[in-house]
Amino acid sequence: MSATFVFANWKMYLDFDESCMLASRLREHVHTTDKTIAVFPTDIALKEIDHIFEGSPLRLGAQNASWVPRGAYTGAVSPHMLKDIGVEYILLGHSERRHIFGENDTDIRKKIDACLDAGVTPVVCIGETKEEKETGKREYRLKKQIMKVFENLSLADEQTLIIAYEPVWAIGTGDACLPADADDVMSFITAEIRTYTNKEIPLLYGGSVTPENVLPYVSLETVQGVLVGSASTTFESFTGLLTAITDKP
Ligand code: PEP
Repeated sequence: MSATFVFANWKMYLDFDESCMLASRLREHVHTTDKTIAVFPTDIALKEIDHIFEGSPLRLGAQNASWVPRGAYTGAVSPHMLKDIGVEYILLGHSERRHIFGENDTDIRKKIDACLDAGVTPVVCIGETKEEKETGKREYRLKKQIMKVFENLSLADEQTLIIAYEPVWAIGTGDACLPADADDVMSFITAEIRTYTNKEIPLLYGGSVTPENVLPYVSLETVQGVLVGSASTTFESFTGLLTAITDKP
């Protein structure tokens, strides 16, 4: 696998105007790229940013979606609806969705199926808590999360799914998982995924990635890209990160 993914999760950091402004500046800055660069803004900015990105290599993702396609589901937005306005990727199972909004592995699996049905690529976040890491339960947690994603899942040739390893303790803390540790975990994840599918599943690392520390992650054989939160929310930091990995394999 050669592509390098740079996915930017803007969470609820930027409002409509700020999101569109940053998207416009990125569009002016990135003319060609050998990376797959996608931004995941607030839902209210998706359609406008789809217009802003027209004709550019920049891609669009959403931060969440519902598993039901349409109907009496107050507050829900379906993968089909997101796809209609230009969304190619949807983040699922982000630790903030799991821990603040109470989503579990079963909910996430239903959303994965809904995304695949709609023709959108799910970007499924998995990762252990600090306590699980410290009590030797990291592998157990990842194994369970991977099982819920891949058990009885059949991916058609045109369907893909991306896994983002985001240790909960590394998200937004400045305490990134050291590259050597991430490498070991990615090897474990790859081997687990292999027990379910022979398809190439891109693996991303996420958790306190910055322009200063990004290069070792994308240089790992086991890692196909990064999922970046706060360091992707200013023009200087996001473009600094892109520069840091430019011309790197
Ligand atoms: C994230 O929220 O997916 C993330 C990785 O955040 P941060 O880069 O801010 O740690």
